[in-house]
Amino acid sequence: RFIALEGGEGAGKSTQARLLADALRARGVEVVVTREPGGTPGAEAIRKLLLEGVPDDAGPGWNPRAEALLFAAARSDHVERLIKPALARGAWVVCDRFLDSSRAYQGGGGGLSDADIVALHAIGSEGLLPDLTLLIEVTPDVAAQRLALRDTGGTDRIGGRDTSYHARVAQAFASLAESEPDRFVRIDGNRTPEATQAGVLAALAPLLDS
Ligand code: C5P
Repeated sequence: RFIALEGGEGAGKSTQARLLADALRARGVEVVVTREPGGTPGAEAIRKLLLEGVPDDAGPGWNPRAEALLFAAARSDHVERLIKPALARGAWVVCDRFLDSSRAYQGGGGGLSDADIVALHAIGSEGLLPDLTLLIEVTPDVAAQRLALRDTGGTDRIGGRDTSYHARVAQAFASLAESEPDRFVRIDGNRTPEATQAGVLAALAPLLDS
């Protein structure tokens, strides 16, 4: 089974990925927890490029298409070398972000068409989709509070994005969830990690029982 966690920065995806993996392991399941961009040495190298930006360039970094290609390239390596082999041996894969982040950020935020991003995913990753995508949603205030607490000086986020960019990302995630109700479950992440985890486990119940 392939489960993706999605949402904006500060939604609590990484915490929920870890808690979900613990809960699955307690049931005796092999779980691979991973993230994107990243997850393999090649994809982590691309992540570093994306997060640190273009060396010696004080400007906006890559153009939006180049950015989308870098994300698609990182995902391709991650899918071929880590996700597909894990699924093939029967492990569960819990992935912190996947294709829908590109649709929300490079699409909703960056202005690329959804069709182009989906086409890149078809080429790079043979269109692999999660069995279930958990969209963790928080208000902008909650996200800002959490980000202030974990501030590392900006090395774990892509900078230069304004409030309206993040609002477009949140809107794009919500529309994706509405357009694919069979694959998405929306979860209120404004609560404590434990309460949010209860929502995650409830969403997973149909997969656990089958
Ligand atoms: O998930 P995490 O917060 O670690 O992501 C690192 C950075 O990459 C964040 O700034 C996130 O917004 C960005 N990102 C992106 N497009 C994606 C995936 C992540 O802009 N498809």
